[in-house]
Amino acid sequence: MQRVRVLQSIFRHLTQRRILNIQSSGLEQLVNHLSTVKTSLGRMSFSTVERGAPNTLDFRIYFNGPNGVISPFHDIPLNGGADKTVFNMVVEVPRWSNAKMEIATKEKLNPIKQDVKKGKLRFVKNCFPHHGYIWNYGAIPQTWEDPSHTDTHTKANGDNDPIDVCEIGTVVHKGGSVIQVKPLGILAMIDEGETDWKVIAIDVTDPLAAKLNDIDDVEKEMPGFLAATVEWFRIYKMPDGKPANSFAFNGEFKNREFALNIIQQTHEQWKELVSQKTSAGGLNASNTSVVGSPFLLTKDDAQTILNQAPAPSGESPPRDPEVDKWYYVGQ
Ligand SMILES: [Mg+2]
Repeated sequence: MQRVRVLQSIFRHLTQRRILNIQSSGLEQLVNHLSTVKTSLGRMSFSTVERGAPNTLDFRIYFNGPNGVISPFHDIPLNGGADKTVFNMVVEVPRWSNAKMEIATKEKLNPIKQDVKKGKLRFVKNCFPHHGYIWNYGAIPQTWEDPSHTDTHTKANGDNDPIDVCEIGTVVHKGGSVIQVKPLGILAMIDEGETDWKVIAIDVTDPLAAKLNDIDDVEKEMPGFLAATVEWFRIYKMPDGKPANSFAFNGEFKNREFALNIIQQTHEQWKELVSQKTSAGGLNASNTSVVGSPFLLTKDDAQTILNQAPAPSGESPPRDPEVDKWYYVGQ
């Protein structure tokens, strides 16, 4: 909107000085036209609708697609465009923040909400020297790690979530953004006995993207970053009294090719979920676009679900200062 206002003031200025001759109604039409052109030139565009107030149990981020309310888990396509090696990523947690925001897989239309532990909003602890999440963190839509499927590599079952992504680019992305990423590699974390793959990827529009094409390039361009990533996942639950997480493959990253195969495998598992060939096991597979899915909703049904969510509210309670504390968990 700010861009539109700037554009309007430039046109107004040019018109006043008689450099450009457009009446004000024509000016509005032109600005609207330019906004539409911008939208249609972009990839499929999504927007978000916030409900409740941030930093409360009620807070939700719902998603809109070109035809109304959608599920970010089931309705945003796996791929971000025609290139089958570029994926959509739903950003759940912006880099350097602590609130554990995630797609609510068990709620209708799967809005993003903050995870809750023992009735309280969950924040990840700052394990020295890390601050919050050290990447933009999120999920690839239309993927699922089936909890009844034992992974051949990790010998552990899936964690019942869409596959996780660490986006390592320059920009801090807002929660609820949908960005296009290319996978560079993958880490096989074992979290309390469950397989929990972490795809390492970069925003295709990032200045570094041209130089990063596989996992070895990350070490070349960002020395130390992969080791910091493994350490982060190993220790992040320790301040909460949990044991260190472990990893398959000795904590080594697998390459891009391997990552693409795992993503494809989790996409196939998601297809079974959304077509009810696998039991949804408490997950909400309601969607507005998957042809033949028994969980398909009409546009009106989806809008009704959004309408029933708590009213939007700008009043956000202050954040607990405890969130900024450092923890020294040792090595
Ligand atoms: Mg996971």
